[in-house]
Amino acid sequence: MSGARYHPGPLSATIIDGRELAQQARETIARRVAALRERGVEAALDAVIVGSEDNAARMYADRQASTCDELGIGYRLHELKPGPDTGPDTGIDQRGIIKKIRELNADDRVSAIMIHMPLPGGVDEDRVKAVIDPDKDVEGVTPANIGNVLYGKTSLAPCTGLAALRLVESTGLALAGKRAVIIGSSATVGRPLAAMMMARDATVISCNKFTWGLEKLARSADVLIAAAGVPDLVPADWVKPGAVVIDVGINRVEGADGQMKTVGDVAFDQAKRVAGWITPVPGGVGPMTVAALLDNVVDAAERHADAEDD
Ligand code: NAD
Repeated sequence: MSGARYHPGPLSATIIDGRELAQQARETIARRVAALRERGVEAALDAVIVGSEDNAARMYADRQASTCDELGIGYRLHELKPGPDTGPDTGIDQRGIIKKIRELNADDRVSAIMIHMPLPGGVDEDRVKAVIDPDKDVEGVTPANIGNVLYGKTSLAPCTGLAALRLVESTGLALAGKRAVIIGSSATVGRPLAAMMMARDATVISCNKFTWGLEKLARSADVLIAAAGVPDLVPADWVKPGAVVIDVGINRVEGADGQMKTVGDVAFDQAKRVAGWITPVPGGVGPMTVAALLDNVVDAAERHADAEDD
C-alpha cells in the first residue's frame, strides 16, 4: 500500500504541536470555567496522593495545582499519610484509601476526583479505582467510563487515549476505513485508545510484547501509535510514508552528553522524514493529556451543576 495518499510533502513530516493544541484547548476550558462561575459553580479537582515521599508524584501534583490555578479551577490535594491504618509493608492501608474516596464521592461540593499513581505496593489499584463515582472520575479509570468508550463517548474517557485521539484528529484525517496499529495494549492507554478508534470505524490492530511481525504490521499503518514505554522501539523504516505517528511513550534515557533526557518510543529524528505527521516527545501527547484531564474536570463540574439544577 502506498502511504502518500493524504500528505503532500513526502520528505518532512508536519510536527503535531501538542503544546499549541493544549493551549487552544485551555482557552476553551477557561471560557467554560467562567461560564460555570456565572452560574455560581466552581469547577474544582480533588486529588488524592498517598504518602508524599514520591518526588515525581509530588512534583506532578504541584504542577497540576498551578495549571488549575491559571484556569480558575479549584485544586484540593488530599494527602494520606501513614496513620492508624498503617500496614506493616506499604505504609498505607488500602481501606484508608477507599474510605477517603467514599468520603469524596459522598461530598456534594466535590465534582472531580483523581488519584495520583502509583499507590504503595500491596494496594490493589484496580479495586481502588473502581470505587470512584464514575460521574466524578475525571481520569476515566473506572470500569463504567472505560466501558463508555466502547460506545464512542469521549466525556470522562481515559485521558491519555483521548489525548492521542485528539492529536490524530488534529491532522484532519478521518479514521473511518484507515488502519490504526497501536503498539502497547495496557488497560490504561492502548486498549481504551483501540476502542476509541474502533468506535470511529478505523481498522485497529492492537499489539503487545508478544506480537509477532510487529515491524510489518507497523509499516501497514495509516495511523501508528507507539505506547510501549521502550525508547527507540520504532525506527524510521517501520513507518509507512505519509502515516500519522503518535508517540505516547515517555522514557528517561542518558543522552550523548551524559545528561538524562526524555524520549518517546519512536526514533523521532529519522521517523519525521518518513511520516506525514508526527508528535514530538516531549511536547506531544503529554500536554494534551493534561488538557484532556482538565476538559474532563469541566465536564464533571457541568454534569454536577446540571444535576443540581434538575
Ligand atoms: P504498560 O507497561 O502498562 O504497558 C506497556 C504495553 O506495551 C504492554 O501492552 C506491553 O505488552 C507493550 N510492550 C512493551 N514492550 C513492547 C515491545 N517491545 N513490543 C511491543 N509491545 C511492547 O505501560 P503504559 O502505562 O501503557 O504506558 C506506556 C508508555 O506510555 C510509557 O512510556 C508511559 O510512560 C507512557 N505514558 C504516557 C502518558 C502521557 O501522558 N504521555 C500517559 C501514560 C503513559
